[in-house]
Amino acid sequence: MFPASFEYLSCRSVDEALAALLKHGGDARVLAGGQSLIPAMRFRLARPAVLVNITPIGELAYLHESDGQLRLGAGLRDVAVETSPLVAQRYRLIAEAAAVVADPVVRQSGTVVGSLCHNDPAGDWGVVALASHALVVVRGKDGTRVVPIDDFLVDSYTTSVADGELALEVRFPTPSPRTSGSYQKIERKVGDFATAAAGVQFTLAADGTISGAGVAIGAAGPKAMRVTEAERILNGARPSAELFRTAAAEAEKLADPSADTRGDVEYKKAMAGVLVRRGLAATLERLQGGSAQ
Ligand SMILES: Cc1cc2nc3c(=O)[nH]c(=O)nc-3n(C[C@H](O)[C@H](O)[C@H](O)COP(=O)(O)OP(=O)(O)OC[C@H]3O[C@@H](n4cnc5c(N)ncnc54)[C@H](O)[C@@H]3O)c2cc1C
Repeated sequence: MFPASFEYLSCRSVDEALAALLKHGGDARVLAGGQSLIPAMRFRLARPAVLVNITPIGELAYLHESDGQLRLGAGLRDVAVETSPLVAQRYRLIAEAAAVVADPVVRQSGTVVGSLCHNDPAGDWGVVALASHALVVVRGKDGTRVVPIDDFLVDSYTTSVADGELALEVRFPTPSPRTSGSYQKIERKVGDFATAAAGVQFTLAADGTISGAGVAIGAAGPKAMRVTEAERILNGARPSAELFRTAAAEAEKLADPSADTRGDVEYKKAMAGVLVRRGLAATLERLQGGSAQ
C-alpha cells in the first residue's frame, strides 16, 4: 500500500527542524531512519500530514564521550554504534545489543534515538537504555530537558516527547573498569524482533559485592521494563548462582507478554528469567576473568 499524501520537509539544522515541528504541531512527525515510520505509513497506521526529515542534519550524527557519558546524537545510525571501537572497548551491553538489532540492512538506516522514540514493546534499545540508566535529551519551545529513560518510555509507542519537540541525544553513563554487562536476545531468525530479551549491567566492587545493578527485559509487556526487584536483590550482595536465580525469578514474575507467533505467554515469561540469569552469569564471568568490557 502507498502512504497517504504528506508534505515533506528536509531540514539542515536543529533550529530548522524545531521551527517546522512547532509550526505543524501534532500534524508533523520526525523522520529519522524511517525503518519504523515508513512501514507504519505504508500500512496507514501513521498518517502524518508533514514529515520533518532530520537525517540531513550532519551535526546530529555524533558518538562521543564527555562528562562521564557516551552521547549518541539523534542522527546516529545503528551501524555506527555497531562498528565503534569505543563502544566495543568500553560499553559491552551496548555493543552486544548493537549486533542484534534488526538486520544489517535496517541497521544502515535505523537510529538509536529513533528506536527509543518509537518505543516498540519488542525494541532492543529501550531494554539497553533501562539497564544502563540512560538519559534522553529533548528540546522544544521551552528549552532543553534531560529525561531519565524510565520517564521517557511512557507506554507502547508513546514517549514523553510532546508535539513540537525533538529528541536530540541519548546519554549512557560510562561504566567503571569494574563494570560490565550483557544483552541476551532470542529471535526466530536474524532480523526478527525479540521473542524475549534481557539487558543487564553491574559493578563488582573491590569487596566482591555487586553495585549499580541494571536489569531490564523486552518483549515482555507494553514497553521495555526495569526489573526493580531484581536490582534490589543484586545490589550489595555477593554474586552466586543462587543469587542470580533469585534475581532472574523476579524477571519471570514481572514479565507480562502477549502470546503471538513467536511464542506463548508461559514460554516468553520463562525466557525472560532465563535470559536475565544468562546475562548476569556472562557479566560475572567477564568481570572475574578480568576482561570487564
Ligand atoms: C525488517 C525490520 C526489522 C526490525 N527489527 C528490529 C529489531 O529486531 N529490534 C529493534 O529494536 N528494532 C527493529 N526494527 C526497527 C528499527 O530498529 C527502527 O530503525 C527503529 O525502531 C526506529 O528507528 P528509525 O531511526 O528508523 O526511526 P523512524 O522510523 O524514522 O521513526 C520512528 C518514530 O520515532 C519518531 N522519531 C524518530 N526520531 C525522533 C527524534 N529524534 N525526536 C522525536 N521523534 C523521533 C518518529 O517520528 C517515528 O514516530 C526493525 C525494523 C525493520 C524494518
